[in-house]
Amino acid sequence: MLLPHEFFHSWNGKARRPAGLVTGGYERPMKDDLLWVYEGLTNYYGELLAARAGLISVQEWFDEIAADAMAVSAPGRTWRPLQDASDSAPFLYTAGGGWSGWRRQVSGGLPSFYAEGTLIWLEADVIIRTLTSGRKTLDDFCAAFHGQNDNGKVWVKAYEAEEVYRTLTAIAPYDWKGFFEKRLHETTAAIPLGGVEAGGYKLVYTDAPNIFTDPWTLDGGLNAYGSLGIHVAADGTVDDPWPGMPAFDAGISNGMKIIAVNGRRFSHDELARALRASKDAPEALEFIVENGSYFKSVKVNYHGGLRYPHLDRATAASDVLTAIATARQQ
Ligand SMILES: [Zn+2]
Repeated sequence: MLLPHEFFHSWNGKARRPAGLVTGGYERPMKDDLLWVYEGLTNYYGELLAARAGLISVQEWFDEIAADAMAVSAPGRTWRPLQDASDSAPFLYTAGGGWSGWRRQVSGGLPSFYAEGTLIWLEADVIIRTLTSGRKTLDDFCAAFHGQNDNGKVWVKAYEAEEVYRTLTAIAPYDWKGFFEKRLHETTAAIPLGGVEAGGYKLVYTDAPNIFTDPWTLDGGLNAYGSLGIHVAADGTVDDPWPGMPAFDAGISNGMKIIAVNGRRFSHDELARALRASKDAPEALEFIVENGSYFKSVKVNYHGGLRYPHLDRATAASDVLTAIATARQQ
């Protein structure tokens, strides 16, 4: 999704740029409080344009939204509001050493306003379509906001949040300031799924793989955030446990290495097999874990099987998401 993302940046980030990022000199500090527009809106359209252009299927776009939703469900949002994740971008991009989900980074170390941006701007798109009975969409906002000077010349026009709210209101009157400020400042475990649900879908977890949640499989690791709340590298090292999820709560933490699962030597396949069998197993999962020079046995009382996120068309609401993903005619 990199190419559509960077293509969209030509307008959203380059031509139209948050005022705090137009400093007039490298020696002047930037203010990055509007990265939820700069990167959040770009993340939404980067994924969406890939579907509209046929680079991915509509079903794969749904899986990508579901993957974003799972990433956003990381426990860091219970203490760090989205606005603070945006303000903290200079630290979050480069922070390492584990604990990404608690700090509010998502896969690849990106701050969470990327994935959460997709959910929030999707909701804005669905609201515009609902309020205008489908006559207007978020594309109309982009045309008004970004397309002000499409004459082939290089230009930069700075903006503040108020212009975003004002332009949205001109497309579809609504309390846009209240909409965004609530989502920017709240700290809650509940993730913003209003767009998914009003768009006719539900977030569900099944054992069917999702190519967007498990890219690490290519290097032999396992994304088990939907089940145990950990990512496990190919050698068994746990590199980002989510507090409040079964593995962390049982005592498996960052930097520990899983040596054995249910009495057998650790491998990606062995862990996946044990997770799959956990549904019907009366006993807890049993791990042998290496922690520095110590070994310990850890029981994780988990019986949910393998769980990967997907969108399920199982609501009474009409299917707005498919309409959004349909390629534009003009
Ligand atoms: Zn970007």
